[in-house]
Amino acid sequence: MKIVGGGLAGLAAAAKLGAAGFSVEVHEARPFLGGRAASFPLNPADPDSERIDNCQHVLIRCCTALMDFYRRCGVADKIDFHDRLFLVRPGGAIDTIRRDPLPAPMHLARSFVSMRALDWRDKLSLASCLGAAKRDRLRDDIDTLSFSEWLREKRATPRSVKRFWRPFIVSALNEEPERASAGAALQVFAEGLLGSSSSYEMGVPAVPLGELYSSALERGLGSSVRVQLKSKVKVIEPASPEADFYICAVPFHQVSKLLPNLGLDETLLQFEHSPITGIHLWFDKPITDLPHAMLLDRELQWLFHKGHGYYLAVVSASRNLSDEPADRIARLALAELREFFPKARTAAVEKSRVIKEIRATYSIRPGLDRLRPGSGTRYPNVFLAGDWTKTGWPATMEGAVRSGYQAAEAVIAAAH
Ligand SMILES: Cc1cc2nc3c(=O)[nH]c(=O)nc-3n(C[C@H](O)[C@H](O)[C@H](O)COP(=O)(O)OP(=O)(O)OC[C@H]3O[C@@H](n4cnc5c(N)ncnc54)[C@H](O)[C@@H]3O)c2cc1C
Repeated sequence: MKIVGGGLAGLAAAAKLGAAGFSVEVHEARPFLGGRAASFPLNPADPDSERIDNCQHVLIRCCTALMDFYRRCGVADKIDFHDRLFLVRPGGAIDTIRRDPLPAPMHLARSFVSMRALDWRDKLSLASCLGAAKRDRLRDDIDTLSFSEWLREKRATPRSVKRFWRPFIVSALNEEPERASAGAALQVFAEGLLGSSSSYEMGVPAVPLGELYSSALERGLGSSVRVQLKSKVKVIEPASPEADFYICAVPFHQVSKLLPNLGLDETLLQFEHSPITGIHLWFDKPITDLPHAMLLDRELQWLFHKGHGYYLAVVSASRNLSDEPADRIARLALAELREFFPKARTAAVEKSRVIKEIRATYSIRPGLDRLRPGSGTRYPNVFLAGDWTKTGWPATMEGAVRSGYQAAEAVIAAAH
């Protein structure tokens, strides 16, 4: 059994198949595991230098498959869950979203009512849209609409869009409301914010992402799984005696090269990428006591305190940054942080690292969901995995793990 791709999809498939007694070989082209959710040494010439993540990755409590994978790997306790979300505006005003001891969906009602970033009209509009979200998610036409079309239909106020709907949806789907499918957006709100009273809690890895997978290698994947790093597979030949089953767990734009006769070329052409920029900044002194912050009204979207020293990871999904050089992005980030956090005005950046991922995720456009393929292919012994396959989830670590589990289950079924 051969798996091509050592990202979360491939690793999740390996964990499940290893546990089911299959002898599994994982081939990963790069010298480390984790794919897009990986870490590497800050100084590429010194493998022992500080490790940083490709970009800060977070999950929410309702990512049940991902947490199952972390448990299998013995690293579930390395995820810190935060039950308070801090929304910060330029000038430094903070709104806190936290749970009340009320059943869902009322558990966050008081936080929304108290938000100072919104006025009463915005809050009435927010309540009415949230009320419609669960119901409209099941509408037949929901995936043909963009999220902004849905918000217009519901008469969402411009400020509620700017300060609530947009920041949450860009964080969850990595796409702007004008471009994102309303179906995918409503799924996130229905499951993430309204699902249960804890589902909105945000999980932040307490260690670099790479440490989660080294532990997976040592403890989680089991002795029947062998991982070969720096092992780029050129092509998968389904009839070759090299393996009885194959799982192709690579991003959508790399599938056709590996499986040229799969018959999915037209479908794959419908997929587009959406970027994310990760900005790592090391300050000479603290600029905020917050563990994290959702940043409103500017290009930056999130800030995470990385704990050691005064190291902050800042994230932006803005397409405006895609063509900007790294030094300009670092300067823009500093200028914006100085607007949000007055203490940053007297702090200096000692070093910075900007990582632009132009192919961060696929863009979850209206109508795309019905084109996402399942794990089966025209070859009875070849299966697909990856965050872009049909999982019911957007391009996330949760989606990737679900896809890996689905492909593994398909292999198990085909082998019996
Ligand atoms: C900057 C950024 C921030 C993100 N933030 C979040 C977040 O906060 N929360 C969240 O849930 N998700 C986030 N995501 C999305 C998440 O990282 C992905 O959805 C998920 O990691 C995809 O996993 P995957 O296994 O499907 O694909 P990948 O991680 O892309 O794994 C595919 C692997 O296949 C390997 N490969 C490709 N071709 C070959 C070949 N021919 N031979 C061998 N190996 C090959 C690649 O090297 C890669 O390791 C973010 C992504 C990015 C880029």
